[in-house]
Amino acid sequence: DLLVVGSANADLVIGVERRPAAGETVLGSDLAVHPGGKGGNQAVAAARLGARTALLARVGDDDYGRLLLDSQRAAGVDTVGVLVGGAPTGVALITVDPSGDNSIVVSPGANGRLAPGDVRAAASLFHASRVVSTQLEIPLETVVEVVRSLAPDSRFVLNPSPPRPLPQEVLTACDPLIVNEHEAKVILGDSLVGERPEDWARVLLAKGPRSVVVTLGAEGALVASAAGGVVRVPSVKVDAVDTTGAGDAFTAALAWRLGTGESLADAAAYAARVGAAAVTKAGAQESYPTAAEAEDLGAG
Ligand code: ADP
Repeated sequence: DLLVVGSANADLVIGVERRPAAGETVLGSDLAVHPGGKGGNQAVAAARLGARTALLARVGDDDYGRLLLDSQRAAGVDTVGVLVGGAPTGVALITVDPSGDNSIVVSPGANGRLAPGDVRAAASLFHASRVVSTQLEIPLETVVEVVRSLAPDSRFVLNPSPPRPLPQEVLTACDPLIVNEHEAKVILGDSLVGERPEDWARVLLAKGPRSVVVTLGAEGALVASAAGGVVRVPSVKVDAVDTTGAGDAFTAALAWRLGTGESLADAAAYAARVGAAAVTKAGAQESYPTAAEAEDLGAG
């Protein structure tokens, strides 16, 4: 089973011709409200593919919190680990331009109150999980507690988003660490400048994770491990409509397939199909494919 520990947000989305610069106001479309947050997205993406998935998260005792719980349950996610109260439900303010690129501001709200004690209280979920997938929209000390709570034979997958420096204990546990270009740059800092993505993957691997995946948007992804070296995973060619949540779908698919015993390269190839499918539709969770839709993609 897959356990996702992470954020659940209400995504408030406005379409714009051009994303605003500092000090600028632009007019946009009518507001749309969607269930989101990297944890919530990953859990729904995995469940939609057919993975047995549980979510450990915190939402507010408010309408957005109920919307998020409903959408998780509708997708088939086990929500016994979704805690209620402590702060308003997290919110993301998202603008999307015609090319599908987005800008996002997040109010963590209840996500910021998901505490190490909440992780310790969820021991039974950890024992039932082959793979635990986490992101950084929850407190870092909670992520550290996740690493300490892993069952001996379970695997830890981390997408460090939004990126920040990671304690060695967390880096070392990652199998894989999954980063896009922006996250790689923040984690590597200046040592990255002028180097190719293959080099980022190698330098990241040298920092201690058991494996690394670098996602490259329409260019696909790279997987890196000490045993397998650096391998390129091709993308599936699609017309991008909205890239919101593509990385979350990719990570969820990868985590699930690793839990079924697939190799990192095979799991990443599958995840690339799922990520590509996710960019062909608007929204995050609404854009996630079923297993059949992921298989069909690009076949015709
Ligand atoms: P993030 O959303 O975290 O920035 P990416 O944009 O790298 O992550 O997307 C994650 C994965 O989704 C990519 O590695 C790729 O497999 C797939 N993907 C994203 N954008 C596209 C695209 N335009 N065409 C095809 N696949 C894509």
